[in-house]
Amino acid sequence: MQILTSPQELAALCRQWRTDGESIALVPTMGYYHAGHESLMARGRECGSKLVVSLFVNPTQFGPNEDLAAYPRDHERDAAIARKQGADVLFIPEDGAMYAPDHATWVEVPDMARGLCGASRPIHFRGVCTVVMKLFWLVQPAVAVFGQKDWQQQAIIRRMVRDMNIPVRIETQPTMREADGLAMSSRNVYMTEAERAQAPQMRQGLELARRLAQAGETSAARLRDAVLRYWAEQLPLGRLDYLSVVDADTLEPLDSLNGRGLMACAVHMGKSRIIDNILLQD
Ligand code: AMP
Repeated sequence: MQILTSPQELAALCRQWRTDGESIALVPTMGYYHAGHESLMARGRECGSKLVVSLFVNPTQFGPNEDLAAYPRDHERDAAIARKQGADVLFIPEDGAMYAPDHATWVEVPDMARGLCGASRPIHFRGVCTVVMKLFWLVQPAVAVFGQKDWQQQAIIRRMVRDMNIPVRIETQPTMREADGLAMSSRNVYMTEAERAQAPQMRQGLELARRLAQAGETSAARLRDAVLRYWAEQLPLGRLDYLSVVDADTLEPLDSLNGRGLMACAVHMGKSRIIDNILLQD
């Protein structure tokens, strides 16, 4: 595995590969790997003859009061994991390489970025789309792999790809979880022991909604109320950011389930903001 830090070198290598008839899979990440990242890399390994993993804590997707400076980092361990998963290149852009000081061009899908996480993180998805577009141009992958844990992110990327006719296939991988159901996240390390002990209740609440939906409940308001009541009892350390029922593809809010209902949430547990989601119908 090569570690590249120059966008130009990455682009040149990928150009050569494409000329040689290789098909490239790309896995964009911010590092501090867990089994969720590994499952994306394993899928990327299956989808392409070459695998590029990018590791970049993208400053433009962090708001002014977010955890950019504190975001956990361990490049050595990450490199060992990417190597183990069969990456051909780990791209860790050097400081200043991705954004010129007068960078002024943005890629946005505003209608899909207003709700859910976008309500409390108004510039987040603009930063994500812009950096993913840059990576798509540098690598020109045949396939790019994203995680279902960040459902809104992959839905927005899919729309960007469709709207801009980008010749890449988007693959979405299921959420990897701890044994107690908590979605794996690099940010879980911010939780105290007490917060970590309660955090799996988030998932329990979403699973309760799914059971109710499967038993015939179609009202988004009633499903939401049931989860909020459950969390009031079981998740007292949590501070709700949002809990919404939306169409899984368009992310439009739903009053009543339509066959593609997704419940998504974000909850602050101390310094950690934890997100999760569940498809309410099969
Ligand atoms: P991050 O490094 O957190 O920006 O995540 C990089 C990619 O890994 C994104 O596509 C995420 O959706 C995905 N990802 C993060 N956590 C998980 C998880 N627990 N299971 C599966 N994929 C994940």
